[in-house]
Amino acid sequence: MAPMKLSLLGGLTLPMTLAMILTAVPACTTRKSVTAGIDLAGMDKSVAPGDDFNAYTNGGWIKSTPIPADKSSYGIDAILTDETRKRTLSLVEDAAKAGETATVDARKIGDFYSSFMDEGAIESKGIATLKPQLDAVAAIADRRALARSMGARLRADVDALNNTNFETGNLFGVWVTQGLADPSHAYPYLLQGGLGLPDRDYYLSKSPQMEELRKKYLKHIETVFKLSGFTEPDRRAARVFALETAIAGVHATRVESEDVHTPALWSRADLPKNAPGLDWAALLEAAGLNDAQSIIAWQPKAISGLSALSAKEPLDAWKDWLAFHSIEDAASYLPKAFVDERFDFYGKSLSGIPELRPRWQRGIDFTNGALGDAVGKLYVNRYFPAETRAKAQAMVADLVKAFNQRIDSLAWMSPETKVKAKQKLETLKVGVGYPDQWRDYSGLEIVKGDALGNAQRAGLWEYHYQLAKLHQPIDRGEWWMTPQTVNAVNLPLQNALNFPAAIIQPPYFDANADAAHNYGSMGAVIGHEISHSFDDQGSQFDAEGRLANWWTKADFDHFREAGQALAAQFDAYRPFPDLAVNGQQTLSENIADVAGLLAAYDAYRISLAGKPDVVRDGLTGDQRFFISFGQSWRSKVRDAELRRQIATDGHAPEQYRADTVRNLDSWYDAFSVQPSQKLYLAPNHRVPVW
Ligand SMILES: [Zn+2]
Repeated sequence: MAPMKLSLLGGLTLPMTLAMILTAVPACTTRKSVTAGIDLAGMDKSVAPGDDFNAYTNGGWIKSTPIPADKSSYGIDAILTDETRKRTLSLVEDAAKAGETATVDARKIGDFYSSFMDEGAIESKGIATLKPQLDAVAAIADRRALARSMGARLRADVDALNNTNFETGNLFGVWVTQGLADPSHAYPYLLQGGLGLPDRDYYLSKSPQMEELRKKYLKHIETVFKLSGFTEPDRRAARVFALETAIAGVHATRVESEDVHTPALWSRADLPKNAPGLDWAALLEAAGLNDAQSIIAWQPKAISGLSALSAKEPLDAWKDWLAFHSIEDAASYLPKAFVDERFDFYGKSLSGIPELRPRWQRGIDFTNGALGDAVGKLYVNRYFPAETRAKAQAMVADLVKAFNQRIDSLAWMSPETKVKAKQKLETLKVGVGYPDQWRDYSGLEIVKGDALGNAQRAGLWEYHYQLAKLHQPIDRGEWWMTPQTVNAVNLPLQNALNFPAAIIQPPYFDANADAAHNYGSMGAVIGHEISHSFDDQGSQFDAEGRLANWWTKADFDHFREAGQALAAQFDAYRPFPDLAVNGQQTLSENIADVAGLLAAYDAYRISLAGKPDVVRDGLTGDQRFFISFGQSWRSKVRDAELRRQIATDGHAPEQYRADTVRNLDSWYDAFSVQPSQKLYLAPNHRVPVW
């Protein structure tokens, strides 16, 4: 559940986030140094580890490294993602050069990328490619046609539990996977949508920063209408903004959206009863969902609210809203004026990024979004040797073993609950590097020179690919990340994990580094993902991925209490005087961090097999283990981006994730941390959870 680190933003019809387009905002961690092991020069030894562990491990790097002008944040994750993108570029360019001799998939990759890079063709087309779609919106004459148009725009662009992406500019987002209570069948999940800003808070909060952003957003909508040649751009912008504010008013909060007990199973007949207003028959038919017997309403109250608004708010406002979002979704593939305007708002104003990153980088990310598995296959062939896969699989086995032993020795858990917990670990399906089955892209048409058309066809192809799962047997080996993604993910409904090839490389995992380093970084990543099966959400799914209670009451009460103590610990972190971290919103991730680090530490000690700990560079093995962990969270972030992250992200800011070492007794021993030091917690305030 929820990858190691993934920031999301904005609504696009492609299975790709705005954050991916604007900035590198991917996974966990990494260091520039090519030497194996920890980065001594990047530390700040003038800081006591017990006062500020993040500064102790990363202070030197933080002082000497500026955030590049085209990024909202920078750190180990961005560095490794940049390297991976360069590797991918070489694959894509080779595919583009091969021309007639390329395989069918390689040709699609090359054509998709080169069409996006052909700025001349894009400029000369202007907005013409989008014109038929805008004309269709203008022709909407009644609410039934409105519902059809809204339905036709739905895409598989959200993910409530795996990648935790709750944002879409369409009225609803669709996610297709196992049923919460029925792991043997796939269901369409409907999630709330319709906003252009990242979250309801951006519309409703009284803070001066948000008020300022709202003014800029209104201006942005107006500019988009103006650039597209619409009459009365100011009036239209005001209508869209007012409508989105009403939409925000019915939206669930981010914390509410994380509650796995809120979703409701609705039959087709339930829809007009439970959520009156929309012409559901028209919407479902246009969305290709006519044969779905039921849907899972992820935020039932919000979906009812949106349905009511669709009947109540003026038709003209909805038409402007549809037109605006159609242009926004296409903007990255339109002429420079649209790209710049989009960046000006989403990049500069919303995330604080001074400069748009180079076009080739955006091109690679879009190609990955459209043809992820096809690119992934090439990536794995060139950059992921079988022996690396085998070593990573062995490390996963170590971590599972360590987690098993932790369960055995938990004093607070009853034998009944332990049996169930261990069953869950036993059936956990771990994917390392790449999926067993690659996707077949033969149905996706890529036309050289049609950048926008390619993107739209790819978004629709992905949607149909997901809908087809409704009529297929469940595949517990399904992947939710491409192999070339620097990240990792836990899939609670499949009771499975994905560790993409791109994260199994230095500095996370370095065959030349010692065990202390590898267990402190890659070990903790693996431990983090395994632990998601046992975080506050994951612990509610059983060995088959069914939402079911397998705990005794006393055990669950104890577990819940520990979680609340950890939430309170994170609530106390204040990156800004007017803004604290939300301990509840980030609880799953924080539990996974602590539990994953504990399991990684155990696995590290097991790997020593009784051999004495070696001192290197004046540091004990335990010290190097923890420093390696701290450095895996190395990051700098711009203020606007940090505020956005706190409002919308399930992860706490990196510095506090590094400081979570304060929950482990072994960290106190390793660095002789004293009660007078800032990170010190009395033993009964440390929250190991697992
Ligand atoms: Zn996570």
